[in-house]
Amino acid sequence: MEVKFENLKIKSTYYGNKQCNWDCKVRNYNNHVIRVTNLDTKKWTSFDYWGSVINPELSTEDDLLYAFEHIIQDAVCGTMYFEDFCSEFGYDTDSRRAYKTHCACIKSKEKLERVCGDVNDLQSRFLDRNVVYCCICEDEIGVVTENNEVYCETCYMLK
Ligand SMILES: [Zn+2]
Repeated sequence: MEVKFENLKIKSTYYGNKQCNWDCKVRNYNNHVIRVTNLDTKKWTSFDYWGSVINPELSTEDDLLYAFEHIIQDAVCGTMYFEDFCSEFGYDTDSRRAYKTHCACIKSKEKLERVCGDVNDLQSRFLDRNVVYCCICEDEIGVVTENNEVYCETCYMLK
């Protein structure tokens, strides 16, 4: 399955043959490979991704977008200092697991950045992808009215 976001093609392939590497107490072989390709530069990278036990295989575009959001989130964690990362996620700074997780995030950041540029920018554009702006002031986040027009509250009142 694949989806597009801006100039990126995001494609998932389900393999189901590799135990998850982050929580080994759970038997989870729902691995996918998610390949992200920049259609302008043709650069690409790929990430392992595990479906959940309840929802093993990514089967809708929303699932895949959610997985991509997760990949971006990991990469953004890779931009944080180790101390900040630990306090954000409640790890002890002497935790070996925290160290390994942070290293994995840094690796994700480097991979994604090579293809998509700054990962913090990418995250804010991605999270705002469904946000619509007012058709008059173009500044404020608007809501869609009955006629499918988008106004912010202020412009709507003045209309
Ligand atoms: Zn407005």
